[in-house]
Amino acid sequence: MSGRLAVIGLGPGDARYLTPEADAALSGAQALYGYGPYLDRVAARAGQSRHPSDNREEGARAAAALRHAAQGANVAVVSGGDPGVFAMAAAICEEIEAGPEAWRTLDVIFVPGITAMLAVAARIGAPLGHDFCALSLSDNLKPWELVERRLDAAAGAGFVIALYNPVSRARPWQFGNAIERLRQHLPQATPVVFGRAVGRPDERVTVTTLAQADAAPADMATLVIVGTRETRVIARPGRAPLVYTPRTAVEVSA
Ligand code: SAH
Repeated sequence: MSGRLAVIGLGPGDARYLTPEADAALSGAQALYGYGPYLDRVAARAGQSRHPSDNREEGARAAAALRHAAQGANVAVVSGGDPGVFAMAAAICEEIEAGPEAWRTLDVIFVPGITAMLAVAARIGAPLGHDFCALSLSDNLKPWELVERRLDAAAGAGFVIALYNPVSRARPWQFGNAIERLRQHLPQATPVVFGRAVGRPDERVTVTTLAQADAAPADMATLVIVGTRETRVIARPGRAPLVYTPRTAVEVSA
């Protein structure tokens, strides 16, 4: 089968964050699939068709892109950040596993991108400098009780925690609930970083504490990094503070 499918990470922001490999894969595509606002970030190229869809339609989008590639086209599916982090790569794999045998013979490639937690961390120092984990707070695809269990386990084990999808219009209370839960494991002074729209013109990065974290503004474009007992804030005169988690941990955190 001659069709090809590239699952491409666009990075967190503008073209500066697009890797040369991703740029080349986009150039070669005849058809682009993705969530509308992500497709809008891709420069127009002559002869390329665009197939935007809603962000809740990942499975249907993946299947449509696979059908198109199976007809012999060179198709690209785009994700913000990295396609393997809470994004399209797993949706494509799910559809290949469940779909027609012919989809398994397609040439499928995954092109990495800079994921939001790395972009946010880089703005502020090294909050992910020691062991860390990433959790999506969205309970669209898993029960909230599982999120709670994972928050307890992660904080209890002393991981720095990157929280993707902290808030959306349909999920107004989950973030406050998560912070409340983390307070049961971690000191009130634990540093918390809010990175909003990093890499875009309206970027905003703020540092607060676990005690204050639920008062800080978070939305769908925000990634939150919750530190550990070891995470430190270095105040600097005339400059933003540095937040970092030392490379060594001497005792069990919780
Ligand atoms: N695949 C993406 C994540 C998709 S989930 C990636 O690798 O980054 C969507 C969540 O990612 C958002 O709710 C937010 O938590 C985070 N996010 C995406 N882009 C961001 C950006 N530019 N700045 C801060 N957070 C971002």
